[in-house]
Amino acid sequence: MVAMWTFALARLAGLLILGLCLGLIVGPIWLWILAAACVYLGRLLLNLYRLDRWLRLRSQIDPPLMGGIWGDVVAQVVRLHRRKQFHKQRLAQLLREVRRSTAALPDGVIILSSQNDIVWFNRQAGRLLGLKRPSDLGLRIDNLIRSPEFVLYLHSDEYAVPLVIHPPVQLDVFLALQLVPYGAGQLLLLVRDVTRQMRLEAMRKDFVANASHELRTPLTVISGYLDSLADDKGLDPVWSSPIRDMRSQAQRMNGIIADLLELSRLESADDEAVREIVDIPNLLRRLQRDALARSLRPHEVFLDLESTCGLWGSSQELESAFTNLLVNALKYTAVDGSVRMRWWNDSEGAYFSVADTGMGIPPEHMPRLTERFYRVDVGRSRAQGGSGLGLAIVKHALQRHGGWLEVVSVEGKGSTFTCHFPVQRVSLTAVED
Ligand code: ADP
Repeated sequence: MVAMWTFALARLAGLLILGLCLGLIVGPIWLWILAAACVYLGRLLLNLYRLDRWLRLRSQIDPPLMGGIWGDVVAQVVRLHRRKQFHKQRLAQLLREVRRSTAALPDGVIILSSQNDIVWFNRQAGRLLGLKRPSDLGLRIDNLIRSPEFVLYLHSDEYAVPLVIHPPVQLDVFLALQLVPYGAGQLLLLVRDVTRQMRLEAMRKDFVANASHELRTPLTVISGYLDSLADDKGLDPVWSSPIRDMRSQAQRMNGIIADLLELSRLESADDEAVREIVDIPNLLRRLQRDALARSLRPHEVFLDLESTCGLWGSSQELESAFTNLLVNALKYTAVDGSVRMRWWNDSEGAYFSVADTGMGIPPEHMPRLTERFYRVDVGRSRAQGGSGLGLAIVKHALQRHGGWLEVVSVEGKGSTFTCHFPVQRVSLTAVED
């Protein structure tokens, strides 16, 4: 590099010296030096012209053959150009691969801009949602998928759980839509056909409901005979203990079946519970009376009614949820302990809590408490006649009222289960006793 510049400078110097010599011999000096400089400048301009012409017509003509510094510049431009071509081809090939693989994906993919306009979608997304290319490109996604749930989902910031909807005019198809944020406010919308899973889930629910229903009649007959046998004074006393056990097991089975039927009813009903005014204070007073009437219970069962408000919802479902929480507190608290129910409201909603001073729940069990048949201590739950379905029922009933369950527990000290209800479900009209 340095050698090339030295050579270029030496050539300029040589030309000027030649001009000087000629000027000394045939004078005038300034004219010959000017002539030498002009020759140099002319060569420079000629090379510049050849370089410029080649750069303009690069794709049609070969690079000019030039020596020295100009040859080096041409070689560097050729190298840069080749590298650019190589990257361009690689990018184009990558793009082709991405297009081909996304087209082969079984799931739909839609790229949305920060304004929720459709930037690109693959073939499967077009098929599942009935999108057309190019007419739907650039349109807002919420103008094409108009379901209110989707519009709410799109404008929320909570995309972790996919939303299941029916595509427009195809009520027998279920699509799971999931938004994935990326880049500067852009979104990827993943679309999956979950019709098969939804049908299997519906079949599972039907099966559980039907099986529970079918089991109820024979169990009622067995329980009836066991009750009669228990009341039979002439029965050999040897049988009294086995019959007592059989009756208690039959009662347990009845409880499990009743809970299974309740759970299936909650699952198969509409997503939202009905909206009738439920007099919560009155309901809680009744629950407290029933609790105090139980023979085996903690000494103290308190009720703090800090609000007279009611709830818009289903009285049957709310009663079932509150009863399950109260019965659990009574079951898992020793006789010398206490249970306290509380009902209050504020500007954000209404709350029902049941706090006990019972055995509490170890922290590792907390995330799974509301799963069906999940029990912290299987033996103790069975001994107490628990089905393991109570908290699952509570969770479902609350969800159908737009609410959720909060559990705070300290092992060995006690637990507090709090039902949170949104303000839209609160009825502030004072309800009469
Ligand atoms: P179960 O019918 O067994 O009570 P649930 O679904 O109502 O079923 O409750 C699930 C498990 O959570 C119970 O088996 C019990 O171990 C635990 N649990 C529920 N409520 C309480 C409570 N108040 N105190 C301690 N443990 C509780």
